[in-house]
Amino acid sequence: MLNIGPYKLHTVTAGHLGLDGGAMLGIVPRPLWEKTNPPDDRNRIDLAMRLLLIEGPDRTFLVDTGIGDKFSEKLNGIYNVRDAPLPDEAVRRAGFDPTQITDVILTHLHFDHAGGATGSSSSEDSKRTAMFPNARYLVQRRQFEWAREPSVKDAGSFRPDDFMPLYEGDHLTLIEERAEIADGIELLPVDGHTPGMQLVKVTAGTQTLLYVADLVPTTSHIRTPWIMAYDNEPLRTTAEKQEWLGHAADEDWILFFEHDPTTAACRIRRGKRDFERGEDVAI
Ligand SMILES: [Zn+2]
Repeated sequence: MLNIGPYKLHTVTAGHLGLDGGAMLGIVPRPLWEKTNPPDDRNRIDLAMRLLLIEGPDRTFLVDTGIGDKFSEKLNGIYNVRDAPLPDEAVRRAGFDPTQITDVILTHLHFDHAGGATGSSSSEDSKRTAMFPNARYLVQRRQFEWAREPSVKDAGSFRPDDFMPLYEGDHLTLIEERAEIADGIELLPVDGHTPGMQLVKVTAGTQTLLYVADLVPTTSHIRTPWIMAYDNEPLRTTAEKQEWLGHAADEDWILFFEHDPTTAACRIRRGKRDFERGEDVAI
């Protein structure tokens, strides 16, 4: 747990998955990434699905929802999905009741982030309901529109069952660009990974934590050119990393990593040529 002003921040663990190491590290040759990200016999590297629960004085926010349980056994095998509770159970394991969640912030609608936004696949009916019944779900309008008509490149990353029921059930709040949704909690849109992905910034006094989602999925991606091959616009990601990691390094922000298999959070600094990892922060 970490305190930032009036907020208590908690890590919520929604399991692990494995994605192709080459796709995760983009143009970086395997000899450079395989020591820190050891691939399995199918070239997949281990990734976490780490959610952030922000407990405020009168609202409780959950950032992202993990992969959910809508995949077939075959797809769970391909993506090596394991130890992945539904997010309501993950929230319970962190010591909260799912009905306490007032706001679910979806960074974007890719299946490993929004998969748990709607109900379990065990019943056709519950598939159509919001996982957190008392919550509003916050997504950038541009991301929602993109997810409904994605590019050929990232169409495979969206499952309409994850988000259309939220829209049809009036649970979605569409966010227009940069927005402060509570005192010190800001949503920051970035577009290189997918249009209208949003980072979550929590600030009080001199302390800031930034939930970097798929802009910097793991600590390996702190280096500017280490960018996923999944990104729609890698040059845009480069500029967005320079902007936000620049703030983080210069203003001593904490970065919170959704996908790093072992490290939840750390600070960064400017090295001789590029950003470097700083001290770990326990949350
Ligand atoms: Zn993504």
